[in-house]
Amino acid sequence: MMRTSIVCVLLAVPALLFTAQRPVDLSQQRVVDLTHAYGPSTIFWPTSPTRFELKALAAGQTPGGYFYSANTFCTPEHGGTHLDAPVHFFEKGLTADKVPVEQLIAPAVVIDISAKAAADRDYRLTVEDVAAFEKGHGRIARGTIVLLRTGWSKYWPNVKQYLGDDTPNDASKLSFPS
Ligand SMILES: [Zn+2]
Repeated sequence: MMRTSIVCVLLAVPALLFTAQRPVDLSQQRVVDLTHAYGPSTIFWPTSPTRFELKALAAGQTPGGYFYSANTFCTPEHGGTHLDAPVHFFEKGLTADKVPVEQLIAPAVVIDISAKAAADRDYRLTVEDVAAFEKGHGRIARGTIVLLRTGWSKYWPNVKQYLGDDTPNDASKLSFPS
């Protein structure tokens, strides 16, 4: 069974301070970086034939007398903290470059299922979880980014603990909350 593992969201702000239709004033909000560093230990989907590769092209003084640094990198799409474009599982869905940036910066709410995930590593968010959140915090406004806190970051970057299985090229025995 295929499941996406991580949702990339760059901004988490209190949603109850404003509606999703208004622009976000970053000077009035707390910006939280939820990303994991991208590098050799980044977790990728097991069937990915390659991993993150970084090669230094230059790093040092040039004959012209100035410092110059440049790298080249290659990476599969589905690893680490990333955005899954709608086209990932929908042939008529948008590709990442077509997703309006306005949809990626918005008020966010966090639904915490970490206790349930700790008891059942295959736990999946339910309608009842969302309803319980709204009962306690108010209705989630249209356009709000909903973040799911699974508590799974504690396992990063241990592949076996994070994905439930570390068999190369085999996604059939994965186990994690979603
Ligand atoms: Zn992905």
